[in-house]
Amino acid sequence: MILKIFLECLVAHLAYSLSQSPILIVVSYDAFRYDFFDTKSVPHMNRLRKLGTYSDYLINVFPTKTFPNHHSIATGLYPDIHGVVGNSYFNKSTNSVVHINYEMFHFDEKVVPIWRQNEDAGKGRHSGVVMWPGGCYPYQGKQVTYCKDYDHNFDWFKRVDLVIGWIKDPKKPANLIMLYFDEPDTDGHIYGINSDVVNKLINKLDNITLYLQQQLEKNNLTGKVTVVHLSDHGMLDVKPPNFINVTQYLTPGTYTYAGSTPVLQFHPKKGFETEVYQKLKNASSQDHFTVYKKEEFLPRWHYKDNPRSPPILVLAEVGYGLDDLIISAKQNAEKNHYKLTNQSTFGVHGYDYTVKEMRPFFMARGPKIKVNHKVPPFNTVDLFNFFCAILEIAPTKNNGSLANVEDIFVGTSGYSLTTILTITAGGIVVSLILISCAAVLTLMMIKRQQSITTTAALNKRFPQTFQTSIEAQHLLEPEDA
Ligand SMILES: [Zn+2]
Repeated sequence: MILKIFLECLVAHLAYSLSQSPILIVVSYDAFRYDFFDTKSVPHMNRLRKLGTYSDYLINVFPTKTFPNHHSIATGLYPDIHGVVGNSYFNKSTNSVVHINYEMFHFDEKVVPIWRQNEDAGKGRHSGVVMWPGGCYPYQGKQVTYCKDYDHNFDWFKRVDLVIGWIKDPKKPANLIMLYFDEPDTDGHIYGINSDVVNKLINKLDNITLYLQQQLEKNNLTGKVTVVHLSDHGMLDVKPPNFINVTQYLTPGTYTYAGSTPVLQFHPKKGFETEVYQKLKNASSQDHFTVYKKEEFLPRWHYKDNPRSPPILVLAEVGYGLDDLIISAKQNAEKNHYKLTNQSTFGVHGYDYTVKEMRPFFMARGPKIKVNHKVPPFNTVDLFNFFCAILEIAPTKNNGSLANVEDIFVGTSGYSLTTILTITAGGIVVSLILISCAAVLTLMMIKRQQSITTTAALNKRFPQTFQTSIEAQHLLEPEDA
């Protein structure tokens, strides 16, 4: 029996060879909101997240759109640094709106995503990307080892099989996989997040989460692979009475806009800058949206300092949609054969990340991850440092912090290493100050004692010279007594 088990293990081991580097799978469920763990039926995800560490939610980046957030997850940079400022943006030099393409993810050639950095970190490291936004473009002229381009209809279970196959590849075993699912986002936009369609999809995602776990177990990979499940943003429902036709306030031909509900990027044509801003500003006082000039963008958005960010931004109030939604709602109803009514619901995201419903989720399990542990919410841009620590590679300069995610790792206390170092450093500084004070006081006392002794001795020898020295007189009396 023992021999049989041994032989089975040997055969299993010889059948494929795993990477010698740490192995990480990052799975993204687009628009899976942080509170679906409580509001939807996800028993497997609820169980699996307790096998590792999770946070109640992540603090994502503005705008809470898919491409900016996925690229921030992959690079640890804010949108004004990596340049993916929306799901679309306006290119002034070509006078055209840019949708997902090579150019979108190459604002700065120095910005290189995690899958490429993993491969650059040493021989034998191979990355694979399944539909992750921007994942199949070359960076600095080099393509990732494994790539499956976006295909909405590609079977979900086959996506997982593909991942396991890459990890077990006998020649180039992958040690980093970025796996993307476009649901519940795609159908959430069409039917709303509380629709039966979306509830079923969330249930299917729960099953796919279990399937991945089962495949890891079946292939004896659970002790070797770290799995991170996360999302880019949440979603909320908007109904047609809350659709706002913003462009009705403007003169046709004076502007172009890019982006989508609830955040539109306006580019006035030359000579119409003041007019477009003023008309939008005036309208905003009577309607449910806010208008920002570039210089008024909130610093915490990290959205202003990029030539791609627009001169004027229109942001709908929470629960409201803009022009593009008026068009897409009608198209979706026609295409999917349902009647558009005032009660129809359409999923929307992109509002400020402080809006609760925009929050994404995070859970991770693996050999270096604490079990049944919850950490406070941290930033989407911190994830890059977390991935680098798992993969044991040095992070490039980024906007995140390792200190924010250290408590996820086995062997760390509730306090982060940085906190402990800060407290220790603070203690050392205080101790040094106290020692210095004590030394100065001792020196002063010794000097004072010497001075008194000298004065007393001098007084003894030359009493007429030091008559006025009180210390000397005072000291002389008891000494003589
Ligand atoms: Zn998304």
